[in-house]
Amino acid sequence: MDFALSEEQRQIRDTVAEFVDEEVVPRAAEIDESDEFPADLIDEMAELGLMGMPFPVEYEGAGLDYHSYAIGLAEISRGSGGLGTVVAAHTSLAGNMLYEFGDERQREEYLTALNTGEDVGAFALSEAEAGSDVPAMTTTAEPDGDGYVVDGGKLWISNGSVADTITLFAKTDPDAGRKGISSFVVRPEEDDGFIVEGTEDKLGDKGCPTAELRFDDMWIPEDRRLGEEGEGFVQALKTLNGGRITIAARSVGIARAALNEAKSYAQEREQFDHAIADFQAIQHKLADMDTKARAAELLMHEAADLKMRDEDYIKEAAQAKLYASEISREVANEGIQIHGGYGYTKDFPAERFYRDAKLSEIYEGTSEVLRNTIAQQLLDE
Ligand SMILES: Cc1cc2nc3c(=O)[nH]c(=O)nc-3n(C[C@H](O)[C@H](O)[C@H](O)COP(=O)(O)OP(=O)(O)OC[C@H]3O[C@@H](n4cnc5c(N)ncnc54)[C@H](O)[C@@H]3O)c2cc1C
Repeated sequence: MDFALSEEQRQIRDTVAEFVDEEVVPRAAEIDESDEFPADLIDEMAELGLMGMPFPVEYEGAGLDYHSYAIGLAEISRGSGGLGTVVAAHTSLAGNMLYEFGDERQREEYLTALNTGEDVGAFALSEAEAGSDVPAMTTTAEPDGDGYVVDGGKLWISNGSVADTITLFAKTDPDAGRKGISSFVVRPEEDDGFIVEGTEDKLGDKGCPTAELRFDDMWIPEDRRLGEEGEGFVQALKTLNGGRITIAARSVGIARAALNEAKSYAQEREQFDHAIADFQAIQHKLADMDTKARAAELLMHEAADLKMRDEDYIKEAAQAKLYASEISREVANEGIQIHGGYGYTKDFPAERFYRDAKLSEIYEGTSEVLRNTIAQQLLDE
């Protein structure tokens, strides 16, 4: 067992950390305030190869292993939780669907443009009545000539209002339950009947637009289907398994940001003629925050390492995401506590970390659903 990062992993961490400290951290409060998609930062990240980290260079990806990608995503999220979601939805979800289940033409045409950052990607699975219960979806794709007519709607789609390529799940056989779900590539600019209904006003995760989408008699050609009809549900689960590792990474990044900020504040803030870091109560909080962040990081590293080695990682990815998201919220909460009243104001980023951390407990499998997954895996072992 080797706990040391490889040379490549250290390099990606340091490169991304430098970019984040110089370009993202100074902008994070403004992104949070305006809730605007930071298109210029995406362009800069694309130039650094950060919009297609885990994909091969033949598709203009950075050719990194999945583990290095997770490390990079943790750094991005340390700067901005919203930016972390933008990159995770674009890469782990949309990009991975195309890489794993697209044919050669689909990869060349759609994945390459995602990797260069020319296009932004999204993953449209959830619906108003089908969140955890994916097979309850009602969006349909009915065969029509050499294509399909799509009708229905999707909710909560990260990057949904700005995406150029959306991997969409719809029922091609509404009576077949989970076996009746298929996946498709949607191109909002080309597909008549694609409608953005609006975006959510959220607690946190600002800068990443979360869109409601509608498809009104939207015709798409058959060659936009990913894989065979009926494979969509399994494709979605496989993609989300990998995605959970990066949501663990996002959580670790936010926890680290909350800890760093709380530590600096505790060393500067004086009460009773002492820096508050001199008080054992504060020291113990910092100790717990660091211990939890390190434990989450190790779970994230293990799950990423298993995926990189092509070994089973469903349970480990669920555990990494479950634990990292819960401790990220706890660490951010203690960060506010260490800041006292100031932590409850927008003058310090402590409250933003808390709002951003909370989301990781909800998307890509809620904590409750992940506990179900972990228990099932455990009982099947
Ligand atoms: C900001 C944001 C971004 C998102 N981005 C995307 C995206 O890009 N693409 C996408 O497709 N979706 C996205 N989602 C949707 C997200 O994945 C769902 O919100 C999530 O899966 C939960 O579904 P739900 O909101 O319908 O809650 P529900 O499924 O209604 O759950 C409500 C509560 O019931 C619990 N529950 C449900 N079923 C069970 C069960 N079997 N056992 C125990 N407890 C259960 C849940 O854990 C939760 O506590 C996003 C959501 C948010 C908030």
